[in-house]
Amino acid sequence: MTQRYSTDIALFGGGIAGLWLLKRLRQAGYHAMLFESKSLGGGQTLASQGIIHGGLKYALGGSLTGAANTIAGMPARWRQCLAGSDAIDISDVEVLHDNYYMWSESSFRSRLKTFLGSKSLVGKVEQVQIEQFPACFAEATTQGSLYKLPDFVINTDSLIRSLTRDAQDCLFLLDPAQVSFRSEPGGGHQSIGLLVEGSEIVIDAQRIIFCAGEGNAELIEKAGLKSVRAQTRPLNMVYLRKQGLPQLFVHCIGDDFGLAPRLTVTTHDGRDGNTVWYLGGELAESGVGKSDSEQIAHAQALVGKYFPWVDVDGAEWNCFAINRAEADINNNYRPDGPFLAAEQNIITVWPTKLTLSPALADSLVDQLAGMKAGPATDSSGLRQFLPEPPMGVARWD
Ligand SMILES: Cc1cc2nc3c(=O)[nH]c(=O)nc-3n(C[C@H](O)[C@H](O)[C@H](O)COP(=O)(O)OP(=O)(O)OC[C@H]3O[C@@H](n4cnc5c(N)ncnc54)[C@H](O)[C@@H]3O)c2cc1C
Repeated sequence: MTQRYSTDIALFGGGIAGLWLLKRLRQAGYHAMLFESKSLGGGQTLASQGIIHGGLKYALGGSLTGAANTIAGMPARWRQCLAGSDAIDISDVEVLHDNYYMWSESSFRSRLKTFLGSKSLVGKVEQVQIEQFPACFAEATTQGSLYKLPDFVINTDSLIRSLTRDAQDCLFLLDPAQVSFRSEPGGGHQSIGLLVEGSEIVIDAQRIIFCAGEGNAELIEKAGLKSVRAQTRPLNMVYLRKQGLPQLFVHCIGDDFGLAPRLTVTTHDGRDGNTVWYLGGELAESGVGKSDSEQIAHAQALVGKYFPWVDVDGAEWNCFAINRAEADINNNYRPDGPFLAAEQNIITVWPTKLTLSPALADSLVDQLAGMKAGPATDSSGLRQFLPEPPMGVARWD
């Protein structure tokens, strides 16, 4: 016999997008269920560097367009959430570093000065005087300029924990192979079919949200959506771990890549007691297709070049491939801001950056304006078929 459940909103994907939306939608009074196929945060979210960007990174890369307007306000918005004074209270989330820095070789000083002036970034990006260098640069043995950005870095593990607190009742682990989408009579509306251990379950939702990162591509195909396309952009990220590495949170710019960050460094505490330096930026983009040993050698050369005063002898080095998943808006262009596309009762979303999650939630709530919450439904029966999803872990753990 088919079991039937109904809800206002069913979300597919438990990364930052799905979990942020779940919290916001429940606060708006909607009943919601979230289905995750592997682990909460275990896709891109826990693999991200956790930088809450204000957009300078794009500007440095020469691609500052409409993205700037949306993203520029994000550090301040996140600070409100962290202070508990926004609709989303994440005051229990750990801030790993309250500022992000940019380190430029001295040969770039004049070019950078022109750039910072020309892009009206004055006041947002502050040059740090040498006597005020933070501890990690106090022993710098190379000549360079240090700038303080409005960006900051959060612990993404604590973010996932914060967003899932009090949400356990509506989080479900499912195998994507169990899922189908069915058109309801009259058209324009699909319901969710699940086949679990021989039992047939149908979930009727006023809206279905695809927020599964890279997994959106398969969901779009299954649901037969025509108006939205997914893309991925690969990276080859590197991390090194060693006890007592200094706390570095910095974009390094210089040499032949214009002003685009050559190396983007964040520092994390490994569960084994080691300090982890996580390395991205142009290193990760240009490292796609390289062997592990080539990529690690490249990373070692950059670390030695930018931070010759740091002793990395004895550190353990690793690298791994991961994709950024986004909407394909026009022949592989990345959207500037968060992306949403509605077709029938399904809304497909990508935040584009973790930083943009609050803006994504604002857009979704706007899109749902006028949709009334249905009566409360009891979904506890689903638990016998679908357990709670586990928490994801960072790659270095
Ligand atoms: C290496 C790297 C570094 C980054 N650094 C930053 C940064 O510093 N700052 C920043 O703002 N952004 C950063 N980003 C971008 C940011 O991480 C992503 O934009 C964001 O995490 C995407 O969140 P998401 O929830 O859409 O996707 P994900 O975090 O990938 O979550 C998708 C979830 O959906 C699940 N899923 C997949 N298929 C299905 C299915 N069929 N059914 C149910 N669930 C499914 C997956 O298991 C996963 O848990 C970085 C990205 C990468 C890859």
